[in-house]
Amino acid sequence: MTARTHDVAAITVLAVIVLLWPPETIRLSTVLIAVLANQLGGVAPDIDQPTAPLWRNLPSGHFVGRIFGKLVGGHRFLSHSLLGLALFSWLANLLLRFTHPLMPHVDITLVWYAFIIGYASHLAMDTLTKEGVPWLLPIPFKFGIPPLKKFRITTGHAVENLVVLPLFILFDVWLFATHYNLLVMLLHQHIVR
Ligand SMILES: [Zn+2]
Repeated sequence: MTARTHDVAAITVLAVIVLLWPPETIRLSTVLIAVLANQLGGVAPDIDQPTAPLWRNLPSGHFVGRIFGKLVGGHRFLSHSLLGLALFSWLANLLLRFTHPLMPHVDITLVWYAFIIGYASHLAMDTLTKEGVPWLLPIPFKFGIPPLKKFRITTGHAVENLVVLPLFILFDVWLFATHYNLLVMLLHQHIVR
């Protein structure tokens, strides 16, 4: 899937989880950083290819990205597995603990959860594509839904751009419209300064 679809999927899953299990109270700063972490988590697994947004925006990023891609075993390998999810989540946790003194009012546990939700949504979405996902590495089998490859989605092609992405956007519109009162209540009563 493309980064755009992953971003929309990541925020959608986060929104569903927040609506199902809203936090008692949450600071506005935590909300903002959590959304950012969720979006980063949503594209983080694709750091294994030199065309990833991170590498494209860094000086000499393409070169560094190629080396990094080789280190993690190439595209759709370590970073696209449960092992990768655990490893990247651990690294994100280290980074959050390290930067916490810079943002002491931010609840880094919630931010961390938002990152993990974004990351997991990426693996779930890629499972729908032709390449599949090696969820159980080191077992090198790539899982896909549906099991027959020819019925799966080709990354960046018409089905993703004209069906999957619009369906997610329509779902979000429906979700926010049908849960409008709950959303307003959350914004008024659960978000604190
Ligand atoms: Zn991916």
